[in-house]
Amino acid sequence: MTIRMQIALPTEAPARRSLLEMDQAQLADYLAGLGQPRFRARQVWEWIYKRFAGDFATMSNLPKDLRTRLAAEATIAPLTLVTEIVSQDRDTVKTLFQLHDGQTIEAVLMLYDERRTLCISSQAGCAMGCTFCATAQGGLARNLTPGEIVAQVLYFARYLADPTLPPATVVTRPTSVTNIVLMGMGEPLHNYANVWAALHRLTDADAFGLGARHITLSTVGLAPGIDRMADEDLQIGLAVSLHAPNDELRTQLVPVNKGYPVDEVLAAVRRYIAKTNRRVTFEYALMAGINDTPALAQELAGKLQGMLCHVNLIPLNPIPDSKYQPTSDADAARFAQILREAGIPTTVRLRRGIEINAGCGQLRRAVNKAAQPGAVTIG
Ligand code: SF4
Repeated sequence: MTIRMQIALPTEAPARRSLLEMDQAQLADYLAGLGQPRFRARQVWEWIYKRFAGDFATMSNLPKDLRTRLAAEATIAPLTLVTEIVSQDRDTVKTLFQLHDGQTIEAVLMLYDERRTLCISSQAGCAMGCTFCATAQGGLARNLTPGEIVAQVLYFARYLADPTLPPATVVTRPTSVTNIVLMGMGEPLHNYANVWAALHRLTDADAFGLGARHITLSTVGLAPGIDRMADEDLQIGLAVSLHAPNDELRTQLVPVNKGYPVDEVLAAVRRYIAKTNRRVTFEYALMAGINDTPALAQELAGKLQGMLCHVNLIPLNPIPDSKYQPTSDADAARFAQILREAGIPTTVRLRRGIEINAGCGQLRRAVNKAAQPGAVTIG
């Protein structure tokens, strides 16, 4: 599929005060500083988190002069849309957003029968250096703030709630975000405090209010972060990107494996399961001729024996010019079969949005390559 888009990377905008960085008390203090009564904070809070306002102008129960002042000095939508692409079958929407300092991040909405799953970013870029990943190529620019993480969800909450907003995908019920995966750009456990602050906002019944069990955090295997996660009160799901069952191969694919080898990661996962009694997902991106042989499937099955886990096999979303290519359907099925025969629950995930650069970091890479303003063809 080919989509023509106008791509014009906006220039850096002056930072306005993002209300998404504030909790309710901080918002009340801020509004009190503008001479407003305490109840205004509640009104603004509900506009943001319950009615998904993207613009102060829509806050009809606020005095007009307050709306004008807020629009001049604050923001509730700190992401500027750069590019938005809808897949041919209209079930995947990928967006590239620019942050106030010019950094760009991606988010992907996937529409399933009963689920509206949103894949969001936790960092601008990533420091983990996975050799098959487009995001890794630019390194880490910076951590996202809690408000920038939450803003990705609010953007799509607005979109799902209002079918007149672009893109013109026909969204049937449910018209709300039902699941979130922190599986976009960045390593969430490398930005722990901000990610957790965002997760509290997203799960707080008084804010966005999504059940923690509907959220999954995906890590490349930072063992201390997994241990820390096990002690959190929120029941956020854990997914670990394993991609190989032994250190020799995994270090080639996931360089951070040098610091956290396979057995150390799996030991942390075992401790996590013992503490939380929650099933862990292992993500395994299948790459033809690299990590998809029957012998490696056997080795993986041996490592995961007896664990409360599930393996999600994902044929790789290939990056142009990369030596890594996706495994064939037949080889993916064979790999899955070996795991299942060993008693490991396994699924082969559908690749979503290959034609719209839906793999992590791929849209940003394509847009940066075509950075001159004007019409660009991506596909
Ligand atoms: S795969 Fe994930 S952890 Fe690895 S470099 Fe890409 S974004 Fe970072």
